[in-house]
Amino acid sequence: MIESAIAAIRSRGSDGRGRSQCTDCGADIPAERLSLVPNAIRCTVCQEAFEFRAVAKCAH
Ligand SMILES: [Zn+2]
Repeated sequence: MIESAIAAIRSRGSDGRGRSQCTDCGADIPAERLSLVPNAIRCTVCQEAFEFRAVAKCAH
């Protein structure tokens, strides 16, 4: 039972590599940012741009 859970976690690629790149520009997301926001999918620049767009959309 425990082994199958570990296998499921491993198959998700939770070894800290492979999913630490920005989904927008493909740049590596700094480890420092990932430690603050473990599920971050964007680098700081793209996240700010994304939030700015989201805010701009809400304003209208
Ligand atoms: Zn980016």
